[in-house]
Amino acid sequence: MQHSPDFQLQCPIPLSDYPRVTLAHGGGGKLTHQLIAEMFAPMFDNEFLRARHDGAVLPMDGERIAFTTDSHVIQPLFFPGGDIGSLAVYGTVNDLAMCGARPLYLSLSLIIEEGLPMQTLWKVVQSIKTACERAGVKIVAGDTKVIERQNGDELFINTSGVGVIEHNLDIRPGAIHIGDRIIINGDLGLHGIAVLAQRQGLEFETTIDSDCAPLNGLVGELLRADISIHCMRDLTRGGLAGALVEIAGTAKKHISIDETKITVREDVQGACEILGFDPLFVANEGRFVLFLPPDETEKALAVMHKHPLGAGAAVIGLVDEGAPGVAARNDFGGSRVVEMFSGEQLPRIC
Ligand code: MG
Repeated sequence: MQHSPDFQLQCPIPLSDYPRVTLAHGGGGKLTHQLIAEMFAPMFDNEFLRARHDGAVLPMDGERIAFTTDSHVIQPLFFPGGDIGSLAVYGTVNDLAMCGARPLYLSLSLIIEEGLPMQTLWKVVQSIKTACERAGVKIVAGDTKVIERQNGDELFINTSGVGVIEHNLDIRPGAIHIGDRIIINGDLGLHGIAVLAQRQGLEFETTIDSDCAPLNGLVGELLRADISIHCMRDLTRGGLAGALVEIAGTAKKHISIDETKITVREDVQGACEILGFDPLFVANEGRFVLFLPPDETEKALAVMHKHPLGAGAAVIGLVDEGAPGVAARNDFGGSRVVEMFSGEQLPRIC
């Protein structure tokens, strides 16, 4: 049989600009978006991928489940507040939670570089177990591969996860409405700065711990309180800015945020200034945004403030009239357009 003509189509990424994959293609900014929008999404196009959500929401015998996957290549393996093991569990748990699902089962694939100290592997495995217990999920399938020395960098972990959806809400980027308020559950920038400080050996007066945490408990409280959630998104690679720009693009809506309502710890702000980062773009692993109708915000805030991971919850913006995009109002009354960053901000942050 002849090859399908599809395989003779031209590569959709302009080869004159990018003859090879760059680190920025994995950075969660413009180039990652280009790969997804121009290569992966059209090639595998279907109604589930089209939702552009943190995971797929799939029909199953009249019920719905959520399914997602995530690979973790963070360096260093251990950082203040977490390690690659806890991150691999929470990353997938959080993506399921963002779909409005109760995470249940994970798979665990380890790609190990020959020579990794057995004690290091043991520490990571113990951390995975602790994280699973905290998040209330089970590892139910796994795989182990070892690659030759110098062909990997210590350890990569992939987890996939399944969760059940136990409500009738339609939670996805396309479900946001004009007038929706946007709530964030805490301050920004801890994970990215914690990892970078560890990697570069930077010392600050205070220790900056990653915010790495499972969000399913807090999301479960919101769902049990019957809050009409329209969309949720965790603020990982690309940070708050990346998440909002993606949601605005998918929903074809305009989002306005007020930077004065966003908390960034003084030491994190200081580190960002030294390193040349904008905290809006720095990765978090325990922060998310929630879109909901204005008359539900007080109730949602009350639920969130009672939970340790929502103590700092605040309304930071809204969906309003305007061309698709994101605008941020600052301290001085000015406003700037927020776009996805181009180039690589922080490689191997998750
Ligand atoms: Mg996510």
